[in-house]
Amino acid sequence: MKPLAKYVFVTGGVVSGLGKGVLTASLGCLLRARGVAVTLQKIDPYLNVDAGTINPYEHGEVFVTNDGLETDLDIGHYERFLDQDLGHANYLTTGQVYWSVIQRERRGDYLGRTVQVIPHVTEEIKARMRRALEATGSEVVVVEVGGTVGDIEGLPYLEAIRQMRDELPREDVAVVHLAYVPILSTTGELKTKPTQHSVKELRAAGIQPDFIVARCPVPLPENLRRKIALFCDVPVEHVIEDRDLPSIYEVPLFLADEGFDLKLLRRLDLSHKDSDLRAWHDFVRRLKNSEGHVRIAVVGKYVELHDAYLSIVEALRHAGAALGMQVEIQWVPAERVEKEGEKALAGVQGILVPGGFGERGIEGKVWAADYARRQKIPFFGICLGMQVAAIAFARHVLGRKNANSTEFDAHTRDPVIDLLPEQKKIQEKGGTMRLGAYPAELTPGTRVHAAYGLPRIAERHRHRYEFNLDYLEDFVRAGFIPAAFSPDGRLVEALELREHPWYVAVQFHPEFQSRPLRPHPLFLSFLRACSSS
Ligand code: GLN
Repeated sequence: MKPLAKYVFVTGGVVSGLGKGVLTASLGCLLRARGVAVTLQKIDPYLNVDAGTINPYEHGEVFVTNDGLETDLDIGHYERFLDQDLGHANYLTTGQVYWSVIQRERRGDYLGRTVQVIPHVTEEIKARMRRALEATGSEVVVVEVGGTVGDIEGLPYLEAIRQMRDELPREDVAVVHLAYVPILSTTGELKTKPTQHSVKELRAAGIQPDFIVARCPVPLPENLRRKIALFCDVPVEHVIEDRDLPSIYEVPLFLADEGFDLKLLRRLDLSHKDSDLRAWHDFVRRLKNSEGHVRIAVVGKYVELHDAYLSIVEALRHAGAALGMQVEIQWVPAERVEKEGEKALAGVQGILVPGGFGERGIEGKVWAADYARRQKIPFFGICLGMQVAAIAFARHVLGRKNANSTEFDAHTRDPVIDLLPEQKKIQEKGGTMRLGAYPAELTPGTRVHAAYGLPRIAERHRHRYEFNLDYLEDFVRAGFIPAAFSPDGRLVEALELREHPWYVAVQFHPEFQSRPLRPHPLFLSFLRACSSS
């Protein structure tokens, strides 16, 4: 028998930022809870080949998959809600699509023909949607079309969806359209007209949605559901309320109360089990009701933009919920630490320095890493955070006053952080860092080893620079010891201070693997130390 292959498309209308990524992730969570083999796919209709070259001011954090793709932060939501590792097959951009089509044209695969958006680009898009199912062995893929209907960039994707609706049996394709029902501040009324207009736009592309998900700030009254149903030509039961909620993790539970999962499964003619969301419920309860409290400073360059550190925030929340504490994040701009020193970090129980690039704010981060060492405040350095901890240690403990990373001072006398010879040769910026999951061996007797309880781990990376082994002996002698190495022993993957309550710095990004129901061991260990300090 041919395996099932069903497609759910999620489009968005009216405005961006309605939570299409969280809606898609929630559908994944709900279908999985009913025993459906489901995967998720994000389409980013921009020309960048991946998200790696886009700065966080544009789209927030760059998320990294196990197989080393730099993606939009929605893939992070997907992994967390679905509890599944995703990869290349789950993320596509217009850059990738055109890249393949143009390469094929150069090879001569279309010889004699004019290469066009329809059918060549749309065929490539459809092939990539099928690949998401094949690569993950799933029977359903929920595909999120980034952007808003009506965007020029989105047109080829809408056309591909239109074609699939024609080509496949009716029960194999469903379209979910997320729109906004705003409240008019002058009269306090909810307005459905923007939703109606966005559905009109979708219809102009030849697509009639099956479900309208109405994002609204307050409960959606029955008469408005009926109005949306009538004007948008969907059954009233297919108008789903998506109310503003205090936490994104409540969205699947809210949608389940709306019966969305069952309605969608019925529309897809799929058999299913009873839903098992007990563990998720339990997690949400702990997230909201935990009584403990801990305040953590996150010292970074883009702190005014919290999405730039989204996975770190989520990892802290997951671990906090598991330990019964609310994690309050104090966002501290690294440049403020440069000016104010101690004052910028007053009253925190832990300091976390996340990943980053470029020189701005570096001295503030180095200062924070050194302050945490001196004051015995729990410290967690991640990627760039490990590099600044190494710089601080070299300067202030080893007395190498000018120690630096060659990323910030190409001619430093003490390059404690440097490029490997193979990285020095690389000229192009896109996709050339050390990316994706790599194994590491843990040093017995270290905190890191105790936290994982494993001899060997795999964690995701996204960096060019590495700890310089020439300095390792000096570091070890002075008490900053390697807690993890690459299996070939060439790369130091984690360092920790011997004489300190909790001072751990890792070259990888543990936050990418934290899941609501499987909090990351290092985040758990860090928060435990913070709450007892
Ligand atoms: N800029 C540093 C490097 O390239 C750190 C990168 C990061 O923190 N993700 O090595």
